[in-house]
Amino acid sequence: MQLIYEQSTPGRHGIRLPASDVPVAPALPADLLRSEAAKLAEISELDLVRHFTNLSRRNFSVDTNFYPLGSCTMKYNAKVLENSAALFAPFHPMTALLPGGAEFCQGTLGLLYDLGQLLADITGMDEVTTQPLAGAHGEMTGILLISAYHAARGNRAKKKYVVVPDSSHGTNPASAAIAGYEIITVPTAPYGDMDLELFKTAMNDEVAAVMMTCPNTLGLFNPHIKEVSDIAHCHDALMYYDGANLNAIMGKVKPGDVGFDVVHVNLHKTFGTPHGGGGPGSGPVGVKKSLIPFLPQPRIVMAADGAIHLETANPEAIGRTANFFGNFGVMAKAYSYIIMLGREGLIEVSELAVLNANYLKEKLKPYYDLPYDMTCMHECVFSASRQLEHGVHAIDIAKFLIDKGYHPPTVYFPMIVKEAIMIEPTETESKATLDAFIEVMIDAAQTTECNPQALFDAPLTMPVSRLDETKAAREQKICCIG
Ligand SMILES: *Cc1c(COP(=O)(O)O)cnc(C)c1O
Repeated sequence: MQLIYEQSTPGRHGIRLPASDVPVAPALPADLLRSEAAKLAEISELDLVRHFTNLSRRNFSVDTNFYPLGSCTMKYNAKVLENSAALFAPFHPMTALLPGGAEFCQGTLGLLYDLGQLLADITGMDEVTTQPLAGAHGEMTGILLISAYHAARGNRAKKKYVVVPDSSHGTNPASAAIAGYEIITVPTAPYGDMDLELFKTAMNDEVAAVMMTCPNTLGLFNPHIKEVSDIAHCHDALMYYDGANLNAIMGKVKPGDVGFDVVHVNLHKTFGTPHGGGGPGSGPVGVKKSLIPFLPQPRIVMAADGAIHLETANPEAIGRTANFFGNFGVMAKAYSYIIMLGREGLIEVSELAVLNANYLKEKLKPYYDLPYDMTCMHECVFSASRQLEHGVHAIDIAKFLIDKGYHPPTVYFPMIVKEAIMIEPTETESKATLDAFIEVMIDAAQTTECNPQALFDAPLTMPVSRLDETKAAREQKICCIG
């Protein structure tokens, strides 16, 4: 495919601008003027439409293919949710922040307030800030809140550590480290959860927080979670809930009920808003009462008469963590998602997500090693160790799937599973789609035994084959793709 500039022909264009009917602006200072004309492509509308339409067809997305990328909850993003975000487009984000401005955007602020209330209810928290722009950003915000909490009690210097299980997502220790903490990592026990005995040994009064994902990244719900929280609280450590896997437990367990003090949710995972290449994220953070004074400002609060106000005068607050109120468009979509599904619908979402994952797990178990062989939640983690005996790695299976029209599952994560293949089907897929995927996974396992070369050669159907993935990520040349 040619670059758009290579298709340029002098004099060709897709639009004709009307003659200017406004006064010509005074000349810009000479040092601000460019010395030569910008090299813009000259191209007709039709050629431009074809160029971008063809580029878009190279996108691998939930709208085109099954996308079982573990831990990422790539569920279908209902198109009707886009309408609700578009309803708010005319509002300028500064409106609410101008003196007296809140009065003029009670609907917009009210949506954020209501969304906070709904998320607080789902997670068992007392108040939610919508500012953080992603899960990882929520983690950082949450750890800063915890830090402010300990500081207010005169304990900031004493509290030096954050405890994480070794199955945790890399963002957990990274967020804690950015906030100035040292990390203590607790190994996973053979039963698939953080080793309770080792956790007890790791805990001491210098621990500020314990960060957990529950169900964890092996897709397993920790049956000792309440005990873990109780132990943490005995040492005056707060419990942080990484909500990336909330899709498994909505309406079943509220993190706040099992001892968590701070929670982030990934609206772009659990609450059906696009992500990956598809759109920005949002990682609202919920807290228990004792942490409310530290929440980022402006805080969106409701007065007794139902009017929404912005609270900005609290000296204990950690400050802003994002511009305005966060990614508003994402929140409008997530709000609509929650309202449309309602309590019963959200419960059904989690039940079907768990059912789909267990269906895949049982069907694929004869073909792939399952290091933690028990009922899973919304995702399951296999190992390609049996395939490795034929020289085939998890990455080869991933590439084979691409040729068959499937986005690969997450591979090599969690890092505690050798040759990990982490499959998260989500609730929005039909049994027919799951069955077709199962067939291809079985095909990969059987091809491994009779013709491993076929897996090494994959993918053959893509514009590019095997990339140096580290180099590709670090030295992106986006402009050359087209
Ligand atoms: C996705 C994910 C995160 C990070 O969330 P982002 O929204 O991508 O920043 C953290 N923890 C787990 C377990 C995740 O799956």
